[in-house]
Amino acid sequence: MGEGERFRDRAWRLFDFAREILVVCPRCGGRAVVAVHPDHLTCHRYAVQFLTAPHRLTCPGCGLTRDWSPRPARKGDGDLYFAGGPPLAVPRLTGPGDPYFGLPLWLRRRCCGGRTLWAYNAAHLDVLEGYVAARLRERHPNTGSGSLVERLPAWIKAAGNRDEVLAAIRTLRASVTSDRD
Ligand SMILES: [Zn+2]
Repeated sequence: MGEGERFRDRAWRLFDFAREILVVCPRCGGRAVVAVHPDHLTCHRYAVQFLTAPHRLTCPGCGLTRDWSPRPARKGDGDLYFAGGPPLAVPRLTGPGDPYFGLPLWLRRRCCGGRTLWAYNAAHLDVLEGYVAARLRERHPNTGSGSLVERLPAWIKAAGNRDEVLAAIRTLRASVTSDRD
């Protein structure tokens, strides 16, 4: 989507971009991926199911793998998932660390006076860019507690930061486009 175009909110939520999270590899510093463990790639009908499924970090650069398992909920946990056994804690989707291993996201960059712009993957970056670049932003009629773009911090939405945020997005994009089809 180019600058000046219309942006239509399709009511994306952050979990729509959580199936593949790019992180900094803790061993080599290269780009690693956190995703549902390959042994658990069943059909996840609801987001909460894949969010609480076992996950694996894989680094194509150095071959590191690390596994993450869901844990039973503790007092004070936010969202819980009841799957028959004890309730599981649903990882809190946030940034600029990944929700599973707490590693720095690959796509994160300082801008706008010490703020941190972050995204889980290139598709997430696409939505942020489309939103920030657009002159006209159409809301989705029914987003419940708020879509991803509605919940963006004010500094990303601010017209005065537009150029700086777009420049940061483009720099981040350059770090993932090298091996995109
Ligand atoms: Zn590595």
